[in-house]
Amino acid sequence: MKHHMDQDASEIGANRAAAPASSATGSDVRIGMQATSLRQAVLDHLYYSLGCPPIVARPHDYYRAFALAIRDRMQHRWISTSQTYFDLNRKVACYLSAEFLMGPHLGNNLVNLHLEQEARKALADLGHDLDTILACEGEPGLGNGGLGRLAACYLDSLATLQCPAIGYGIRYEFGIFEQEIRDGWQAEITDKWLSRGNAWEIAKPDVCYYVNWGGHTEYYRDETGCQRVRWIPHRVVRGIAYDTPIQGYSVNTCNTLRLWSAEAVESFDFQAFNVGDYYEAVNKKVASETVTKVLYPNDEPAIGKRLRLAQQYFFVSCSLQDMLRLLDLANSPVESFAERFAVQLNDTHPSIGVAELMRLLVDERRLDWDAAWAITVASFGYTNHTLLPEALETWPLPMFAELLPRHLEIIYEINRRFLDEVRSRFPGDEARVVRMSLIDEEGAKRVRMAHLATVGSHAVNGVAALHTELLQTSILKDFHELWPERFSNKTNGVTPRRFLALSNPALRELLDHTLGQEWLTEPDRLRKLDVHSGDEAFQRDWRAVKLGNKQRLASYIQTQTGIEIDPAWLFDIQVKRIHEYKRQHLNVLHIVTMYRRLKENPALTIPPRAFIFGGKAAPGYFMAKRIIKLINAVGETINADPEVNSRMKVAFIPNLNVKNGHLIYPAADLSEQISTAGKEASGTGNMKFMLNGALTIGTLDGANVEIREEAGVDNFFLFGLTADETESIKRAGYRPRDYIAGNDELRAALELIGTGHFSRGDAEVFRPLVDNLIHDDPFLVLADYAAYIACQEQVNSAWEDVKNWTRMSILNTAGSGKFSSDRAITEYCEEIWNVGPVTVKN
Ligand SMILES: *Cc1c(COP(=O)(O)O)cnc(C)c1O
Repeated sequence: MKHHMDQDASEIGANRAAAPASSATGSDVRIGMQATSLRQAVLDHLYYSLGCPPIVARPHDYYRAFALAIRDRMQHRWISTSQTYFDLNRKVACYLSAEFLMGPHLGNNLVNLHLEQEARKALADLGHDLDTILACEGEPGLGNGGLGRLAACYLDSLATLQCPAIGYGIRYEFGIFEQEIRDGWQAEITDKWLSRGNAWEIAKPDVCYYVNWGGHTEYYRDETGCQRVRWIPHRVVRGIAYDTPIQGYSVNTCNTLRLWSAEAVESFDFQAFNVGDYYEAVNKKVASETVTKVLYPNDEPAIGKRLRLAQQYFFVSCSLQDMLRLLDLANSPVESFAERFAVQLNDTHPSIGVAELMRLLVDERRLDWDAAWAITVASFGYTNHTLLPEALETWPLPMFAELLPRHLEIIYEINRRFLDEVRSRFPGDEARVVRMSLIDEEGAKRVRMAHLATVGSHAVNGVAALHTELLQTSILKDFHELWPERFSNKTNGVTPRRFLALSNPALRELLDHTLGQEWLTEPDRLRKLDVHSGDEAFQRDWRAVKLGNKQRLASYIQTQTGIEIDPAWLFDIQVKRIHEYKRQHLNVLHIVTMYRRLKENPALTIPPRAFIFGGKAAPGYFMAKRIIKLINAVGETINADPEVNSRMKVAFIPNLNVKNGHLIYPAADLSEQISTAGKEASGTGNMKFMLNGALTIGTLDGANVEIREEAGVDNFFLFGLTADETESIKRAGYRPRDYIAGNDELRAALELIGTGHFSRGDAEVFRPLVDNLIHDDPFLVLADYAAYIACQEQVNSAWEDVKNWTRMSILNTAGSGKFSSDRAITEYCEEIWNVGPVTVKN
């Protein structure tokens, strides 16, 4: 078998024209792609960058030195990429996101540079194993879950597709907390990801901007007699850029992720020092820098905290000022802004950008309102990520006015003009005007950020076909009626480089051998697996790959939790944030049902299963934290019971993140995607599982609908109410009790949990969960229970037919091409951004 990296490594390494001039050996140490150069580079960095003689160097020191050596190998590509965009005056996609959940960089960069083999050799020469060194890298947890990970996948695809792009976000000092499980409960540990340094970023102290808060506005006449507005802020902070290279796969393109960190402005805050209050001055400095201190750990519900609004405004203002500076540097007129930048809002978190760009153009660049508005709308696109009412961002008017007084004025003016347009299109329809206003006037007034984003963007998209459909018929219905042409669907995707090539090397090898390497950038080629799906030898190879991945995960689970799982069992996995709408508790009800069946009928034959969970709960989310405790409590009882533990076990993997996701997604036989229909906008975990050959048990929700179509409806375990049915049941008055009355097993399962069977007789701990299901059940767990249990029985019969299961597994990977983020990004580029590829020479 020809190994995939050999030729490409020399190809990509051959282009060195822009490398720093130095002696051949010196240059080799900086950029040489051969093992010998890499080895010397690691030793040099250990010594000169870390001040660490090899004798005392520990694996983590080798990791850092190695990371620096790999960053060197991207440096000339990185610089010439920016230079190329600048020289060619190309339009740049600016992806604004409050979260980027990047995952570890080292392994991904090795894949994209075709350096894995040489790296392995170089480290072996130094007495180290590449995998051990890779394991030393922590991950920057600058995101909560799917939304932040989507942004990271999109950066990988933009670079791989050679598209000019910058990711703009926040350099949180503390990322998402680390989760530990203590006595079955989640404990949150602060994530000090920067404490051991960050080899990948480069601080750019010269790339910095001032950001204002508070104060008031003044009206004045300029030299020409034109009325203008001046914002007299109460406070100022400075945003400093930290850049991270984003290397595309097999190309020279190396884009930038630019994250902003807040710093006190001494001349401003230290005014207090001049009048003698040194401590007050230092306090103010600390207060300024708290802006980028911590990521809010809430996945779905929007939380109306002032600091969160300050964070959003901070990074958006820095980013827009950065774009204007780039325009100035290129001597391009400000009027050309929209021809040079496509600004995408990843959810409403950056949507204050609409008002900020207006402020920059009107107040600072002195454009007239109409010209500025045309530029703004032409520049922005808005991606909606949720229909959950509690997740839609709105800000109390008084808070908004206090922090951003000028922006509130601008929003009022945008609203005045917008509502005039609504009135002229729909005369006499004042109810519509009230519904569409940027200000919610009912009760305590609030600014509606989704409305601001929609009015200020030329393109609005949902993230899966079903979600876009629901968007247009529910929360943005009025806007869709006004501007149908602005709406489109862009189904999410994930990068096959990280989520297959890097994390499932055995499958990569099999695919390379079977299809050639091109599948990694042209994943529609995976379709060709169809013809091999029944082939016996291929099936054997396929199962061997899966078994290896299951062994790898089983040993990780053993070291993390002490729970022993047999890799031959069916691996049934649900990993994602813990949320009632994602219905981990429905999964638990199935487990408890099977447990009861086994206890009542010990002779029952069922295929043995490992039920594997993982995911963080928002620290303040009461129900979600109890669901974690429930999973662990049920697991403890089952795993310790010899009457059942030869046929079922339950494990909760602590601290789900991108890094352990690399072990989890490739090891699944069955992917649990069981959210209440209509609630999960898209999901991306579902795609990672499919790509790696898992079968899905799922509802018709989010991208599951499209996954089922691509895999073939016979290769997907479908159950449950549709989004429409869910709605009509709720409208008719949903009574969860009726479902209990009609189903003895459901009643018994709830009773077992409620009476303390899994909590040593403690009947209090799960009472709130059970009561909520019996009396409220807002996510229709009980309504879908019977269908779910029946569907799991189909899973069992399917699993017993090994050949057919293997065939279905192969067909899932074969059908996963659509869910590459390359496809999604191509659609954004062509249909929203009008950004095209640029070849970067070296
Ligand atoms: C992909 C991913 C998610 C999103 O999972 P969903 O199942 O789509 O909710 C969340 N967290 C991590 C670490 C991921 O890698």
